Amino acid sequence: MATDTLASPATLSHTQTRVFKNFIDGEWVEATTGKTFENRNPADTRDLVGIFQRSAKADVDAAVDAAKRAFERWRLVPAPRRAELVFRAAEILIERKEEYARDMTREMGKVLAETRGDVQEAIDAGYYNAGEGRRMFGPTVPSEMPNKFAMAVRQPVGVCGMITPWNFPMAISSWKLLPAVVCGNTCIIKPAQDTPLSTFNLVRAFTDAGIPKGVVNIVTGFGAEVGTPLAEHPDVRAVSLTGSSDVGRIIGTIAAKSFKRCSLELGGKNPMIVLDDANLDLAIEGGLWGGFGTTGQRCTATSRIIVQKGVYQEFVDRYVERAKKLKVGNGLDETTEMGPAINEKQLQTDLEYVEIGRNEGAKLMCGGNRLDQGEYKYGFFMEPTVFIDVDPKMRIAQEEIFGPVVSILPCDGLEDAIEIANGVEYGLSSSIYTKDVNKAFGAIRDLSAGITYINAPTIGAEVHLPFGGTKATGNGHREGGIGALEFYTEWKSVYVDYSDKLQKAQIDRAE
Ligand code: NAD
Repeated sequence: MATDTLASPATLSHTQTRVFKNFIDGEWVEATTGKTFENRNPADTRDLVGIFQRSAKADVDAAVDAAKRAFERWRLVPAPRRAELVFRAAEILIERKEEYARDMTREMGKVLAETRGDVQEAIDAGYYNAGEGRRMFGPTVPSEMPNKFAMAVRQPVGVCGMITPWNFPMAISSWKLLPAVVCGNTCIIKPAQDTPLSTFNLVRAFTDAGIPKGVVNIVTGFGAEVGTPLAEHPDVRAVSLTGSSDVGRIIGTIAAKSFKRCSLELGGKNPMIVLDDANLDLAIEGGLWGGFGTTGQRCTATSRIIVQKGVYQEFVDRYVERAKKLKVGNGLDETTEMGPAINEKQLQTDLEYVEIGRNEGAKLMCGGNRLDQGEYKYGFFMEPTVFIDVDPKMRIAQEEIFGPVVSILPCDGLEDAIEIANGVEYGLSSSIYTKDVNKAFGAIRDLSAGITYINAPTIGAEVHLPFGGTKATGNGHREGGIGALEFYTEWKSVYVDYSDKLQKAQIDRAE
């Protein structure tokens, strides 16, 4: 067995089993439990991607101690210098983009074009956040008193704990780590147990860029065993979770008890509205990409398509025809359009929702079955699935499935569409296809979601705008752009009185 420590993964052949350790205080170390877990390819479970440490509270404690010590040094490094390291890490990711994309497809199944995009998103986040090292703007305002100077500066929060999901294993880790580091924080990241390798690769880019010890630490393992102690640790002053709303409730409750800063980026049930005047070719392309990209396993997946009655039948016929032809397979094959589900449990959930939809009276137009013959034998594959004539109150139209199951709902017009779109507990992404600018702006105003696309599906966020949602999608924080800066810094207001006398704010007024 090859042990992957500081060696470049490129030097290890894929026929060897790679064993990955935790990264704590600048050292690659085994978990105190002595236990490990396997990371297998969901397209072919015979393929063992790597073995990772199954860590526990003691490993979290060691990482937090290291991060706490490192914080005292790191916070004093000027932000532009901190940012240079992030920039260098982004440059390293460019060199390794193909290798890391292939690792990602192997560990989580999405097609290569998408995993290349995932690594690219981390690169983009690197460049954006590196620039932030020379901005981190704060207000400088006139004082109400003479000879007094007033401004607010951003300061780091301290030790940050990060818990990530498996569907964007490098991009989402980068949204958290990169701004946190530029802002002067130190971090412990716990990646999803299905996809630790991609976060590991991101951390490796940091180590090779020369990040000082203790600034970035990775502790792998399971949610309750690593994520919970990380969120509970009193020295962790900010915790950032991207994951399901159920886990969001757990982490939010833990954080509330000690008043720590907490960012929750959670589930979605994202609507795409298609009005009668839409460019249907575009809407069909968009709906397929939004619905079946990443096998429907995006928080922003287009899981509901709300179509106005005038074009409903044509949209349904053409959409279903195209969905049936999508090529399902191993994401490492460049011709594959849709990969597997992440694991058996998720696949079973997807299949259960097919049954739920059928029992609720929705019309199953294509898909609904597991694929397990021939090339699919060792993976978690399923047909692209489309339900039509779905009622907005049905469970398949209300609950996040997180699989390749799209619901199409008829609507009377814009007002009706918006009521349907908003009638779920989530509020992450939304979209509308129309050529009418008035309707588009009406939708921008009225859709209750953190993101609205016009003439594009519900997926495709860019790193320099805030990302996140309303209602059960989170607790109001945003990642990306200045959203991240707000989370990873504390404001300090500074007053400099150079009058040489006591001036009393709100009291000493020259009337
Ligand atoms: P999940 O909630 O099961 O797991 C997310 C992370 O939380 C994992 O690292 C997991 O190990 C950890 N975790 C699980 N139980 C925990 C516990 N009791 N205490 C602490 N940590 C715990 O989610 P998932 O299956 O990895 O990802 C899918 C979910 O993530 C979907 O709901 C999706 O919508 C959401 N998601 C949201 C966004 C967003 O930005 N809003 C982005 C991607 C994914």
